Amino acid sequence: MKKRVFSGARPTGRQHLGNYLGAIQNYVKLQDEYNCVYCIVDIHALTSLENTGELQKNIREMILDWLAAGLDPEKSILFVQSHVPEVTELHTLLSMVTPLGWLLRVPTFKEKVKMQPHNVNYGLVGYPVLMTADIVLYKAEVVPVGEDQVPHLELAREIARRFNNLFGDTFPEPEAKLTTFPMILGLDGKQKMSKQLDNDIEIALSPEETKKRVMTAVTDPARQYRTDPGHPEICNVYSLHGYFNPLQVKDIAIQCRSAKIGCVDCKTLLAEGINTTFQPLREQREAIAAKPKYIEEVLADGAARASIIARETIKEVKQKMGLI
Ligand code: SF4
Repeated sequence: MKKRVFSGARPTGRQHLGNYLGAIQNYVKLQDEYNCVYCIVDIHALTSLENTGELQKNIREMILDWLAAGLDPEKSILFVQSHVPEVTELHTLLSMVTPLGWLLRVPTFKEKVKMQPHNVNYGLVGYPVLMTADIVLYKAEVVPVGEDQVPHLELAREIARRFNNLFGDTFPEPEAKLTTFPMILGLDGKQKMSKQLDNDIEIALSPEETKKRVMTAVTDPARQYRTDPGHPEICNVYSLHGYFNPLQVKDIAIQCRSAKIGCVDCKTLLAEGINTTFQPLREQREAIAAKPKYIEEVLADGAARASIIARETIKEVKQKMGLI
């Protein structure tokens, strides 16, 4: 029996290079080794209440990218969190076994309070409980996480363990599958690539749009003139060549250091590498987008399959808690 993997991602719309290299690629690989449950966590997106009018569009664009990149609805369960409402029921039940002190000391809660002091809602405090419900509702045994997310998963394990101690063995304690998520910097060369910071390159852009975006990338600030030798080690364009032109990367470094290549040519080369890499994905995306009902069918089928597991878990939980 393959183990079950769960992973959730917020509906952020069209995905960018950072999402692709950091998560989607890994999701695709895991499909062969595990039974994967991949969820677009739309309820989590409500903690900030920004752009809720865009939510449906963002879900659609995101799933389009996932499918085009190779997430296979025949192999994995792909669905939207709120389409399986048992998760909110389990969230409430798990909140009864989660000490408030555990939640108040979560570093991301403190960060969020600083980021949105005008909207410190209950959802922000309860976020780790909902995240635990996401995972244990499907009795997932493995969760792919980066080093920085290990403490969050540890909290989920503690909540599951506490439930098991109080009511008997119910949930597997989800194990972290440590994954190296490369830190992809944005076009500003300083901060992590992010849609909100407008420093991203969407994977579904046209070749021309991609080139236009790449041309805005910040490079080595010391390289003022074409004849100045460059420092590829501090240039984000160069680090992106590592993913999209891996065979040429050494050569580019030599040419940059000796000023044999200018930044415009170097960026053109990067845009070409990105476009070549994503051409099959983009074609696939167009083909899927041309079948208007396909996405609804995939998500409905995913929710139906997820619901079967969710209903069984909720029944067991309620029995153990004395509600049935
Ligand atoms: S030539 Fe390329 S690697 Fe060198 S500074 Fe310019 S963009 Fe960066």
